[in-house]
Amino acid sequence: ASRISAENWQPSLRLKDPPLAGAAVEREALREERSERDGEAQKLEKAKITLNDCLACSGCITSAESVLITQQSHEELYKMLTFNKVTPTEQKLVVVSVSPQSRASLAAKCKMNILETAKKLTSFLKSLGVHYVFDTTFSRNFSLLESQREFVKRFQKQSEDKKALPMLASACPGWICYAEKTHGSFIIPYISTAKSPQQVMGSLIKGHFAEQQHLTPDQIYHVTVMPCYDKKLEASRPDFFSQEYQARDVDCVITTGEVLRLLEQEGISLPDVDPAPLDTMFSCIREEELTSHSGGGSGGYLEHIYKYAAKELFGIQVDTIQYKPLKNKDFQEVTLEKDGVVLLQFALAYGFRNIQNLVQKLKRGKSPYHYVEVMACPSGCLNGGGQIRVEGEASKDWLQQVEKLYESLRTEAPEENQRVDELYEQWLGGPGSARALRALHTQYHAVEKTSTGFNIKW
Ligand code: SF4
Repeated sequence: ASRISAENWQPSLRLKDPPLAGAAVEREALREERSERDGEAQKLEKAKITLNDCLACSGCITSAESVLITQQSHEELYKMLTFNKVTPTEQKLVVVSVSPQSRASLAAKCKMNILETAKKLTSFLKSLGVHYVFDTTFSRNFSLLESQREFVKRFQKQSEDKKALPMLASACPGWICYAEKTHGSFIIPYISTAKSPQQVMGSLIKGHFAEQQHLTPDQIYHVTVMPCYDKKLEASRPDFFSQEYQARDVDCVITTGEVLRLLEQEGISLPDVDPAPLDTMFSCIREEELTSHSGGGSGGYLEHIYKYAAKELFGIQVDTIQYKPLKNKDFQEVTLEKDGVVLLQFALAYGFRNIQNLVQKLKRGKSPYHYVEVMACPSGCLNGGGQIRVEGEASKDWLQQVEKLYESLRTEAPEENQRVDELYEQWLGGPGSARALRALHTQYHAVEKTSTGFNIKW
């Protein structure tokens, strides 16, 4: 089996070309060694791999692929929906939160506009037994607002905290996995603590929504539809698990491709489905119009933080942003200057090569940036490994179509969303409250390298 090296690593490859279950083999070897040392025949404990065992080392989530996939897959959603049908007295409320990137990919596949796609997808999911369908654009508002505020705080304390800047984006679990497992305690202080849109949605559904429905978190089964497999790893982090209720904030993540498989298994063509009204509680809908955020298919973190910081820190209103491409289109820079003095310098770094260069610069103390939007996939989330693919020559045009559809919605700044304001007040007790910190921020953990031959050198 071939091993994916650091040079060609990217999240979309990780579950496609599984060479060897490194972590599992390692643990099994240790157990056998212990058994032989004691000189007694012992029945070895059966090796079991969970999503939390993933080291993102390109070697371990490999032949464990089937285990990983079955733990969080559309088959699991089917199981839950069947459970609800056969045991109606114990049924759980099933909520699906769809990412805007997945919706754009499905829209391109089905040759429909975004609103049509959203309505037909809602109708299809509800025909299977799903109770509510929401949109993670809504939860991204919180993620953007928290990132903006965190950046300004870090900027203001940069003289006393050497690792306050650059602040590095936190919404991409592919990047977080890599950071924790390869650069651990060096890189973690730089990473924003704001939760990703998926995990903010988890807090909203298992917190506020559960309260509203008079349910406990474990009585809701929360599924997200995401553009990559790494979101499955993110949802399985212990930080997003409630010990009290033995429930995850996001119970199951399915990729865009898996939604397509669901449709195929049901023998349904999405364009033929009758549209249903969209659920409004956690969606960016106003008068039957969906809205989005500006700043690109990965959420627009750079753009929103930049504009907010320019205004908050220097009183400068920025309306449009001029990106300057550096080595390639996945590494771009934005600079705010006044009288020849650089006030803010931001960058976006997409794809493993650019991330690796960024980290090396940081280690040498040569990074000039105040903020970097780091995303593991080349071209960002619209090109995630879980998106619908076309092969060969057509793939470039395909990505452009998906981008065009994604950008076809009217954009809205997170500050403009009144519902978000209300939730800050009613649910969280205002920005910066202890409850807001718990619901909207997270922490990271350096993964210690073990001294075995299974270590991967980066
Ligand atoms: S860039 Fe987006 S799609 Fe790719 S791994 Fe990160 S979050 Fe997933």
